[in-house]
Amino acid sequence: MTTKYLFFTGGVVSSVGKGVTAAATGLLLKERGFKVAVQKLDPYINVDPGTMSPYQHGEVYVLDDGAETDLDLGHYERFIDIRLSRVSNFTTGQVYAETIAKERRGDYLGGTIQVIPHITNEIKRRIGLAAKETGAEIMILEVGGTVGDIESQPFLEALRQLRNEVGRENCLFVHVTWLPTIGATGEIKTKPTQHSVAALRSIGISPNIIIARADADIDQGLCDKIALFCDVEKDSVIPMKTASVLYEVPLLLDELAVGELMLNKLGLKASKKPDMRPWQKLVDEVKKEKPTVNVALVGKYVELQDAYMSVREALKHAALANGVEVSISWVHSADLEKDKGWDVVKEADAVLVPGGFGSRGVEGKILAARYSRENNVPYLGLCLGMQTMCIEFARNALDLEDANSSEFDRSTPHAVIDLMNDQRDITDMGGTMRLGLYPCLLQPGTKAANAYGVASVDERHRHRWEFNNAYREQFEKQGMVFSGVSPDGRLVEVVELKDHPYMVASQFHPEFLSRPMNPHPLFVGLLKAAKEKAGK
Ligand code: GLN
Repeated sequence: MTTKYLFFTGGVVSSVGKGVTAAATGLLLKERGFKVAVQKLDPYINVDPGTMSPYQHGEVYVLDDGAETDLDLGHYERFIDIRLSRVSNFTTGQVYAETIAKERRGDYLGGTIQVIPHITNEIKRRIGLAAKETGAEIMILEVGGTVGDIESQPFLEALRQLRNEVGRENCLFVHVTWLPTIGATGEIKTKPTQHSVAALRSIGISPNIIIARADADIDQGLCDKIALFCDVEKDSVIPMKTASVLYEVPLLLDELAVGELMLNKLGLKASKKPDMRPWQKLVDEVKKEKPTVNVALVGKYVELQDAYMSVREALKHAALANGVEVSISWVHSADLEKDKGWDVVKEADAVLVPGGFGSRGVEGKILAARYSRENNVPYLGLCLGMQTMCIEFARNALDLEDANSSEFDRSTPHAVIDLMNDQRDITDMGGTMRLGLYPCLLQPGTKAANAYGVASVDERHRHRWEFNNAYREQFEKQGMVFSGVSPDGRLVEVVELKDHPYMVASQFHPEFLSRPMNPHPLFVGLLKAAKEKAGK
């Protein structure tokens, strides 16, 4: 079997939906019977996004094997409904770290280490590794950033070399660009796309397909113009107007026969007729008029909603399952500490406290948990949101004054959230967390077990601190239920309140496993309770 490669590059500006387009393409090809894998190549020098600020990079998406990756991997998993692994994402930082380690070991026998061939070889090695490990028939590779960036050049050069090594007939370059509209005249411009393609050609790559994104309608004349100036065939310019519903993107691409176009160019034949009906049904559902429930998302990075990408998507999936529309109010947890933002929280039908690191805004999250508990407002806590729920309970239901997590107060008299003994000596910031998939046993009859409908689940984690077992009994006496624990019983995974409509929180991140067609039970449970509260 020859692996075929689809390379996605970005033109003009970032954030035009290159990742979503690549992910939607993956779905179209999977629907036509192909084994598809994806790989995101990130040109920044960080080893992984794990230590990057969510303000700069958005959400860190965690995979089964614990890899901390770019949020585009979330799009891939949600659209294609696949489970990716560590090989699916790598950065310039990793490429250089590996190359320099080899150089120090003497592997290069005194040679001069250069971008070409050593760095480009390492890039190609990692692509080959992913192709081999996944056994994919079609590999989708997305190059992060925009063509013209200095830092993405070694990646593009590596792809150019790869094309010659695996054969031109086995590769397609898909360039996703942006067509701006001039406000004064309402005119759509193709010039930036022409420049971007010229930049790509100057490094030896001619795109085979151009996906032209715009906010306005793109007529055939514009497509023909792009074809002429950018030297691509007329049928290979795909106009993609911004979709009102994210999950409509595969349907729009399918209508434009993008799947067939790509297979033709790669010399492949579909083994199966695509069935897009479930997606059509999903999009129809999204577009239907529905009652709205309000969820207050109390977080610390709310100015950049990309920091909560998977949480937002999981809420949308769960809303659909409940036949409602979800409206998310973004509340800055630090505001709640200053008596601001409470009107928004009080308007909401449910409160969601997502994960986070560091002490800023934690007290506000604790206040949000208190408000939810005392007023019977449905609450879902994710990771830090579970820890703040426990801290609040300790302080106000158990009267454990100044209870806290030792992450935020090293000298707290009641570290209800604490490091486990075997973790204490670890000081390195990267790679010391409990990361990835771990099993969790659910206690029958609890809200969590009822929501899941199964006895045991595997969920993705990303945290250091844990519930302190010394306090379990006290918590239980006051009505906290440890509804999910690790198989050895040592680690608390899910907590909930007995006398409350729905106050449930998990140490893991359920948002990473929610899929449009398969919404996550804990989110579905939250919105069901919210809907009941709102009387809708
Ligand atoms: N900061 C907390 C911990 O490390 C929670 C992490 C998170 O919410 N992802 O345990």
